[in-house]
Amino acid sequence: MSVCDNLETLRDSIPAACTLIAVSKNQPEEKIREAYNCGQRHFGENRVQELTAKYESLPKDISWHMIGHLQTNKVKFIVPFVSLIHSIDSIRLLEEVNRQGLKNNRIVPCLLQVHIAREETKFGFSADEVRELLHSLPARKLAHIQVQGLMGMATFTTDQQQVRSEFLELKMLFEHMRSSALPENVTMERLSMGMTADYPLAIEAGSTMVRVGTAIFGQRERP
Ligand SMILES: *Cc1c(COP(=O)(O)O)cnc(C)c1O
Repeated sequence: MSVCDNLETLRDSIPAACTLIAVSKNQPEEKIREAYNCGQRHFGENRVQELTAKYESLPKDISWHMIGHLQTNKVKFIVPFVSLIHSIDSIRLLEEVNRQGLKNNRIVPCLLQVHIAREETKFGFSADEVRELLHSLPARKLAHIQVQGLMGMATFTTDQQQVRSEFLELKMLFEHMRSSALPENVTMERLSMGMTADYPLAIEAGSTMVRVGTAIFGQRERP
């Protein structure tokens, strides 16, 4: 199957209201061009250096998504062009994104990464921390970020029930946030969840953005 065939198959199984982000980490630029030539415009990367290199050499109408753990000292390299940072996992990081947003005269769209998996290693806020953070935002005066929603990764397991309940948990937090009074710089319209192994479950649970790599590009050279 070619990249284009894979994209077409995926588009058939994803509702129109859900954005497909092609996760191109560890994939060569020619594969991204292939997807681009089949109409794909949203791409996701998890490393700053790779993201900026690809941004520089690929067409400028691509929307680049940062989906991996982001170090504070690297924020400045992506803020000028990134279209959405999915992986905000600390207040310090959010404050640095705001600082760089100010320097670049832009409002940077962000998602808060929520820890929903059983695994210890995944980054992200707890549900309580998300609530606290939103509560503390007005006082922080971060005029150059916009928190557009939440992102999460389910446990890496074949237990579908487990994965489903983790996605539903995130969806409930998302809906809870949406129905509360939100600070000016928070909109809560995007829910980023679902990867190759679990995107159908994520869509069922209400995902508005799926981040799919392997099902589009095949196995990565490096994991
Ligand atoms: C790699 C990655 C994906 C895509 O994984 P696949 O299993 O290849 O679809 C999605 N989200 C994040 C955060 C990733 O790091």
